[in-house]
Amino acid sequence: MNSQLTAFITLSCTSGFLNLYLCLYVFLQRYNYAKIAQLFIGYTALITVYCFASAFGLIATTLDAIKFWTAIQYVGMAFSTPLGLLFIMQYLGFHLSRKKIMALLAIPFISLIMVATNDMHHFHYKIFEVDPVLGAPYVYQEIGIWYIIHGIFTFGCMFVSFLLIVKYWKETSKTYRQQLIALMCGQLIPMITAFIYLLGLTPQGVDPVPMVLWISSLLYLWSINSSRLFSVMPVAKDAIFQSINDGVIVLDESFRLIEFNQACSKVFPQLTRSMFGVDFRKLWLEVTGQTMPFTLETTMNTQEIELDLMSHTYQVRISALRHVNHGNGHLLIFTDITELKKLQRMLEQQAYYDELTQIYNRRAFFQQCNQAFSEIRASSTAFTVVLMDIDYFKSVNDTYGHAVGDQLLVHVVQVCQSQLKKGELFARYGGEEFVLALKGYSLSKGEALAKQLCHCVETQPLMTIEGAIYATISCGVAEGTNEEETLYQLLNKADKALYGAKQAGRNRVHVYLE
Ligand code: GH3
Ligand code: MG
Ligand code: MG
Repeated sequence: MNSQLTAFITLSCTSGFLNLYLCLYVFLQRYNYAKIAQLFIGYTALITVYCFASAFGLIATTLDAIKFWTAIQYVGMAFSTPLGLLFIMQYLGFHLSRKKIMALLAIPFISLIMVATNDMHHFHYKIFEVDPVLGAPYVYQEIGIWYIIHGIFTFGCMFVSFLLIVKYWKETSKTYRQQLIALMCGQLIPMITAFIYLLGLTPQGVDPVPMVLWISSLLYLWSINSSRLFSVMPVAKDAIFQSINDGVIVLDESFRLIEFNQACSKVFPQLTRSMFGVDFRKLWLEVTGQTMPFTLETTMNTQEIELDLMSHTYQVRISALRHVNHGNGHLLIFTDITELKKLQRMLEQQAYYDELTQIYNRRAFFQQCNQAFSEIRASSTAFTVVLMDIDYFKSVNDTYGHAVGDQLLVHVVQVCQSQLKKGELFARYGGEEFVLALKGYSLSKGEALAKQLCHCVETQPLMTIEGAIYATISCGVAEGTNEEETLYQLLNKADKALYGAKQAGRNRVHVYLE
């Protein structure tokens, strides 16, 4: 064996041992590392196979042995490059779907089959034989069509990995630059070597890449130990931007669209990257069919608006961007608050409405009425309240059951509501007692309305399967007169009048007279 060959074998074995060490080192520490370490373990294991197979190929003495070790070499080499790319992508925060991974591993899989079965079709190597001048293990080969496809793919994977690192260089915090250098060189070294090999500048008949892979391994080892690769890793800013659940839109100082994230597709499905550079005010009309409900030309730092788009409610926050190097701009953040609004409405409903009759409950009545009461005080408008109570309601419950009693309560409410105008505050005051607050009503006007309600309830029975159930109500009416009087005092007067109506025989209206 000549000394050149010995050097080749030694270098390939060095790469093999270093990669094996790296693979085992990360494997044994995998519980301390992020998930990405798993891809790296696979990557280094495949490189180890590649390097050792290459070394064994170099000590082979027959064509069959060389072919065998070449096929094994392809197990490692063909799969390691796409795995290296996947590793870099995951490192930079790309989402790797199973589909993406499978698609990337399809070509190496075919390459492996092509090399293993080359004698049958010669698609990978047109000619593959022992070099007639140099002898085994040197090989004389003429490449076939699949070799070219495989070569472009392999080279492409390494090149894309390298480009991705360069692209994210600027976005990555300085703390992680050392990691990036290691990863970049780790990809660059085999890539340049493969390129020189393809140019025919390395010794013919041997693959030089395994002989330099030990340098990449040392770089990775250095990065793992000195800059804690796998323990502390950067998340690219773009990945953060894209992963924000809120729709984020960036405009330049002239309100032109310059960036938007993935979540925007939920808010504006028609928004596309071809719209970059277009005035967002025009775009708004185009993509929503509405005029813009807020202004961008604001001096305020942050505006908050609620917006209804496609049966969703969004909170829109518009803020001015001031960046020293990149000029001014605008940031629009669309937060989907549909669920929050639903919940808020539900809680409001529960807090302010009576569950059975769906009119205001006592709490809502006092809240609304107190407000109306202080307003009319200031403007000395007339104000009358009516308290009403269903007569002999207990006997309805006793005769027909509680459920029918409930139906009657709903029925009485509906009958009264049909006679009331908007703005007349109607609420459930207690069990079968209701209250009406009438802004702008004098005592006599209030009395007239109460009589009308009494008449309607009396003449419109509840129709049930057990027949018609007639009910009557008694009402007490009182008008606010004294300026010092509180709402509670006014209601107390109405209650006294109601008591009078009950005493007088029910199904009637009594007014409170001083
Ligand atoms: P009066 O003519 O003096 O008002 O007699 P009444 O029977 O209507 O009055 P009372 O205060 O004795 O009884 C009121 C009844 O209303 C007692 C209570 O069980 C019933 N009640 C209160 N809230 C509800 C309800 O939500 N559903 C039903 N079905 N009954 C209710
Ligand atoms: Mg009653
Ligand atoms: Mg009662």
